[in-house]
Amino acid sequence: MSHESGTRTTVAADAPSDRPPSVDVLARSLSGTGLPHPVLVDIARAAIAAGEPDSAAHRAALFRRTLLTPVVNATGVLLHTNLGRAPVAHAQNARAQTVEFDLTTGERGSRQRAVGQLFARLCGAETAMVVNNNAAAVLLVVAALAEGREVAVSRGESVEIGGAFRVPEVMEQSGARLVDVGTTNRTRLADYRRAMARPGADIAMVLKVHPSNYRIEGFVEDTPVTQLAELDVPVVADIGSGLLDANVPWLPGAPPAWLADEPAAAQTIAAGAALVTFSADKLLGGPQAGIIAGNAALVARCASHPLARALRPGGLVLAALQDLALAYLGREVTERVPFWRMVAVSVAELEARARAVVEQVGAVGGADAMRVVATDALPGAGSAPGVTMASFGVELDGDHLAALRAHATPVIARVRDDRTVLDLRSVDPSDDATLVDALRALA
Ligand SMILES: *Cc1c(COP(=O)(O)O)cnc(C)c1O
Repeated sequence: MSHESGTRTTVAADAPSDRPPSVDVLARSLSGTGLPHPVLVDIARAAIAAGEPDSAAHRAALFRRTLLTPVVNATGVLLHTNLGRAPVAHAQNARAQTVEFDLTTGERGSRQRAVGQLFARLCGAETAMVVNNNAAAVLLVVAALAEGREVAVSRGESVEIGGAFRVPEVMEQSGARLVDVGTTNRTRLADYRRAMARPGADIAMVLKVHPSNYRIEGFVEDTPVTQLAELDVPVVADIGSGLLDANVPWLPGAPPAWLADEPAAAQTIAAGAALVTFSADKLLGGPQAGIIAGNAALVARCASHPLARALRPGGLVLAALQDLALAYLGREVTERVPFWRMVAVSVAELEARARAVVEQVGAVGGADAMRVVATDALPGAGSAPGVTMASFGVELDGDHLAALRAHATPVIARVRDDRTVLDLRSVDPSDDATLVDALRALA
């Protein structure tokens, strides 16, 4: 062979011939991508069928980008809906786990016990349970407490929250009937009393929904939970974001101003709500889940409803939630909950980090148009609409979003007035080096 080397090639996939390369040879030539062989075979087959065998490597790269990929969130939106809301670090080994096993008796135990008791403690509730998300929590509560009966909801709270969560539709799915109360902008206790006193009324509960993602201003009035609690039916408050305590005792100093309009679980229960429901992956800062906390008899009705089985979380989520609850109880929130760590970082520290990034990129030249800018970060996930958190970032002229996304560890930024902005509040400090690499690659 050696006497022939360099004069011609005999590798089928490279040979300029009329015959297309074999699917198998082409697939094997892509093994360096790390994708499994059956996937590469599909890619090779599609490339050959399209008459573009040379496109196979590009197709493999595109396929890789469709897989779940860790990214650096430099958007300044801390709970980015498209990036999985709250970032969570959770590791566990492959051992069996006491998901439904009681270590004391050696018998079958409750899946809800471990995490339920911790969240009950955190919310000041009798008990708590976990389902897959808050939409599931509301659906289950309404089905368990009001199937075939009526649920009173203020017209101002008959809302749509992100995607397909619409209060009237959830009501329909649960088998309960929605009774509209009051008006869009003002609903008083007397309106609820009137709805309950109608001839033939069959109101099983009041549902109070926090309008998480928008705000009505001006001539508005809603009925607080303290007043609703005077009614003869249970009050269920869907508080949405999962702020556990309005005093935010896990942050130093007074509660941040941007949280002023967020209802909190502990205060809502203390005000007399029979149950609260909330998401675990918004302001709570955990994995996707929904929490139902409050009156023990009502939670038990939820837990024994047939839907509960369909909506229950697995051991991975329960273990991550347990970590989270223990971090709150141990007052280690800003150390162990990434969302609150990002909130707690000082503006001065963010500015210093932005300066360091610009300096390090500048050291390789070609980054004249890069500068440190003051920015407004957002909590995101529809939490606290219209509020911002002071932040700092790095700005450069032009739209570089695609190039930043193409970096080995993709960086997700945003563009404002034809300038690309990388906000540091949503970036973990350990990722600043990745930003430097990605920005250097632009130069
Ligand atoms: C976000 C939200 C929901 C939906 O919660 P998911 O966890 O996304 O299912 C429902 N109600 C309120 C008030 C919310 O803010």
